[in-house]
Amino acid sequence: MTDDRKSKGLGATERAKLLESLRADKKSERQSAGGGAARNTRGSATELKTTSARAFDFSTLPQVKQLAMQRAAADLMGIDNPFFRPHDALAAGETVIDGRRYDNFASYNYLGLNGHGDVTKAAKAAIERFGTSVSASRVVAGERPFHGELERALADLHGVEDAIVMVSGHATNVTTIGHLLGKSDLVLTDALIHNSISEGARLSGATRLNFRHNDLDALEDLLAGNRHKYERALIAVEGIYSMDGDYPDLPRLLSLKQDYDAWLLVDEAHSMGVMGKTGRGIAEHFGVDPQAVDIWMGTLSKTFSACGGYIAGSKSLCDYLRATAPGFVFSVGLSPALGAAALASIEVMKREPERIARLQENGRRFLEKAKAAGLNTGPSTGFAVVPVIVGDSPRAAILSNRLLKRGINALPIIFPAVAEKSARLRFFITSEHTPDQIDRAVEIVAEELTIVRGADFDMAALMSKSR
Ligand code: PMP
Repeated sequence: MTDDRKSKGLGATERAKLLESLRADKKSERQSAGGGAARNTRGSATELKTTSARAFDFSTLPQVKQLAMQRAAADLMGIDNPFFRPHDALAAGETVIDGRRYDNFASYNYLGLNGHGDVTKAAKAAIERFGTSVSASRVVAGERPFHGELERALADLHGVEDAIVMVSGHATNVTTIGHLLGKSDLVLTDALIHNSISEGARLSGATRLNFRHNDLDALEDLLAGNRHKYERALIAVEGIYSMDGDYPDLPRLLSLKQDYDAWLLVDEAHSMGVMGKTGRGIAEHFGVDPQAVDIWMGTLSKTFSACGGYIAGSKSLCDYLRATAPGFVFSVGLSPALGAAALASIEVMKREPERIARLQENGRRFLEKAKAAGLNTGPSTGFAVVPVIVGDSPRAAILSNRLLKRGINALPIIFPAVAEKSARLRFFITSEHTPDQIDRAVEIVAEELTIVRGADFDMAALMSKSR
């Protein structure tokens, strides 16, 4: 209600008084909103300014100081920061960093579709027709044909009724899990599950229990001991684990979910386009009915060379998320270039299955050669992700930097992304790598790792020195 309508029927003086008192109310509201800082001062404007400046100095936060200390320790050891390396060109089996060409093992371009002529052409055509943005949520800004086409193509690929596309893979997990589950529910996650699933579970308020990585006996124990205490239960796993390159026993998961009346979510970020003869993921690999999985999740940022995420499953699940999931309803629709690129990527993948065969052969080759060279590849099965476990974060960073000097780009994964003792280099394999590139990389890693293992330093001692 406006001031004007409230004051209708009053005389001029009464009206003036009422407006004055309304203004005074607003002023006192504003003051109490900033009340914390105001109460801490003796009332002077300068003091108020100083107090708020100090309150927003993030460098005083303990966690920011901790980060600064880690960086200082790395500087002291002369370790260049291996992260945020600036690439000058499209990254696939090769890349260009600072004008120099490298063999690249740090891209999600699993099937080489990023940069494929048809994909680029489709993205350009979509920009020509629709521009670079669809401007708002699809609920209010409306659909574009590629939204529905992409969702139908993803549903078809997974062999389920429907799919819903969102603008970020991470946000897809957060909003879907956060929205579907609540306080009286249980979320059971593999200990190595991706952060987006953990965040979704946290948002939901459900109880979360972790089972040892890929240990389905441990999962069964947790189900047996806890399932009855909760209303709904969700088991969340990955098709291929992004840090280790191994995968779960899907048929056994299906029987567990059946026995204990739980939903099963499989995150196919790294298995779509990678597993199965035609790249349709872990269900195809095991030859199971994809409709037996309640929630398929995937990203558009890997095999499909775009950006975004999706949920695929029953029509009722997708309809419900389309109408109510906050990350869909209150977030912009997928942009034209990304939607068209993902759609064209699916078409090329279906048309050229030899890309999948090449990727699988390359992964097998890398794993076999690495094992033969005595490298610790953890539980990797050679599907696109192969870690080489180094044993501590500084050595993993140093190894990455030494490989770069020898023409190989592979990134370290360090604490807290993985446990300190399992700090590693992670190699992403693509269909675009040649056998020579793979053999050369493994040979050089083995040589450099021997040198790095011999290096003598103590991270903890250096950290206390830099304090
Ligand atoms: N799930 C898994 C298993 C992932 O590895 C990732 C990111 N690499 C995501 C979800 C999030 O996807 P995006 O990066 O496309 O947001």
